[in-house]
Amino acid sequence: MKKISILSVFLMLVSAGLVQLKAQEITKKSGYTLSFESNFKELDPQLKKRLIKTFFEVYPKLAKEYNPSTIKEVKFFVDTAYKGVAATADGKVTFSSMWMIKHPEDIDVVTHEVMHIVQDYGRSVGPGWLTEGIADYARYKFGVDNAGAKWSLPALKPDHSYKNSYRITAAFFAWIEKSVKPGTIKAVDASLRDHTYTKEIWTKLTGKDLDALWADYVKNSQV
Ligand SMILES: [Zn+2]
Repeated sequence: MKKISILSVFLMLVSAGLVQLKAQEITKKSGYTLSFESNFKELDPQLKKRLIKTFFEVYPKLAKEYNPSTIKEVKFFVDTAYKGVAATADGKVTFSSMWMIKHPEDIDVVTHEVMHIVQDYGRSVGPGWLTEGIADYARYKFGVDNAGAKWSLPALKPDHSYKNSYRITAAFFAWIEKSVKPGTIKAVDASLRDHTYTKEIWTKLTGKDLDALWADYVKNSQV
């Protein structure tokens, strides 16, 4: 009796696995492969199309700009069980089906997440706010429809700090690129990938450390 139930559970798992395999859709284009999977039956086919299209639009650009040897095969998974917005690990981006239903216009979540794949810092020698700030800076620069999502870099507020991460940090980086030295963020990104990053790199690249750069930004934050 017990053996039979174990066998039936096993068969159920096998058939569930086959169903999932069936749902996997593989797209190849200009040297890149995206495998798309979803456990969300009601996923709007148009949204799925757009997620795939956005990947092929932004990933090659991010690879070219930041890391040409980034992996060529990426996985997308739209998950009903995932409660955040999206997360990336080991070349796989998990999207929350809930978020996508509520915010179908927020397509550049793709840009932010696949930038994490391009970043490939491994166990980063830099702080977390820097990783997220660079990913949002990449979204700002390479996003396909930030305006449609009403997503923009915030104006500086007195309680901001460069350590706030995400858009606040990205706004500071956009200012550094425009008003201090273009190419700084690209160089910092590269140093994080090859694990040579130390906070002294900011001084080496711009002549000022992060706090001094931030002080200048506070004085005149116009980009
Ligand atoms: Zn992120």
